[in-house]
Amino acid sequence: MRYDVVIAGGSLAGLSAAIHCARKGARTLLVDPKPGLEAFKCAEGAMEESLSRAGFPPSPEWVSLELYRFRMVSPGGTIFEGRNRYQKMCMLDRGKLQGRMLGMALDGGCDVRTQLKAGRLDLDAGTLRLGNGDDARAKTFIDATGMAAALGTQCGQKRLSNDGLSLVAQWTMHAEGLEEDRYQLYFGSPHHSPAGYSWIFPKGNGLFNIGAGGVASRLPKGVLPRELVERFIRDRVPRPGKRLRFVASFLPCSLPVERPIIRSADGKNALLLVGDAARLCVASVSAGIATALQSGRWAGENWAAPEKYQTLLEEGLYKKLVGSYMFKMGNFSDEKLNALFRWRIRPMGFLHRLFPARVEQMAVDLLGF
Ligand SMILES: Cc1cc2nc3c(=O)[nH]c(=O)nc-3n(C[C@H](O)[C@H](O)[C@H](O)COP(=O)(O)OP(=O)(O)OC[C@H]3O[C@@H](n4cnc5c(N)ncnc54)[C@H](O)[C@@H]3O)c2cc1C
Repeated sequence: MRYDVVIAGGSLAGLSAAIHCARKGARTLLVDPKPGLEAFKCAEGAMEESLSRAGFPPSPEWVSLELYRFRMVSPGGTIFEGRNRYQKMCMLDRGKLQGRMLGMALDGGCDVRTQLKAGRLDLDAGTLRLGNGDDARAKTFIDATGMAAALGTQCGQKRLSNDGLSLVAQWTMHAEGLEEDRYQLYFGSPHHSPAGYSWIFPKGNGLFNIGAGGVASRLPKGVLPRELVERFIRDRVPRPGKRLRFVASFLPCSLPVERPIIRSADGKNALLLVGDAARLCVASVSAGIATALQSGRWAGENWAAPEKYQTLLEEGLYKKLVGSYMFKMGNFSDEKLNALFRWRIRPMGFLHRLFPARVEQMAVDLLGF
């Protein structure tokens, strides 16, 4: 099987890459071991602006709720809350978004194969061994396999240490007594989210994504993320209702990979890393939806000139991601978070009334969604 581009992974980053490769006229194959590409593990929150920047402006088709009100709470209980006027949080229906993206990729002529895993990559030969034993040949390969980085690790990409991993767990569940028009973030606390945060994201009609997680190296011994989210629900959800879906996973809270492009020995073939596989996640809030969409788009648009992909990442994303990582490293102890909320974030409440747009931008930049 000969293609221009072979993409491993059919979630946000892979589908975005597939759509844009196809738009550029590339013969594209996308493979993913899942039976359907609508499945996902996520709290589904993304800021409107970052979605639009990534080329997917919010649509009522796959946005279940738009949230203007927010509450952020420090480990010690200092609250900063308000009503966004300029930056709204979109609660996605990720299943519908990925279904829509799959349709776009297929319409563009992309060959999509589910229940098929990417195996051994021989970049020098330009072949990828698939789960059914076939070899797919191409000049450009895109690794969109998320945390697995299934192709990148074969080409020397290092696995993350426990300091660079966030472990998270989430219930999608009904609940009463929670505000349905406000997203809530509770930062820090060894009890709920050591060096991380817990979240309550409404999805409409009494349904919520409620999760917690922390940096792997900071989790108390023997405590799994599931226990963290159970504690959080016990403490913060007045009347928990029916539970629908549980997910547990890990996410990068690290710097982006050093080499998002890996070349074959003769320089003719290239592997591009996108989304979580390239560790393109906003470390302070473990947000990777917009960056997965954005990096997939840039990789797809530049499949034939991969160096341009690296330039776009460096110019358009790295500053924000490196800034967020440095912010997280410098501030995510309970002591520092408490001071940050008391002296920098809470005073924003007063300034917010005077300069709403400016302050919202500062808060979003600080948190990085
Ligand atoms: C509980 C939870 C809550 C989150 N909440 C948010 C949030 O509210 N906002 C936000 O911005 N981000 C959030 N994130 C992060 C966000 O979900 C990820 O950053 C995003 O999904 C990354 O997309 P991706 O396409 O890079 O990888 P993934 O979504 O991880 O997809 C990887 C794909 O690769 C496939 N794959 C794996 N191995 C192979 C292989 N060998 N061959 C072929 N395919 C393979 C998998 O089946 C999968 O489909 C959350 C994550 C979790 C776990």
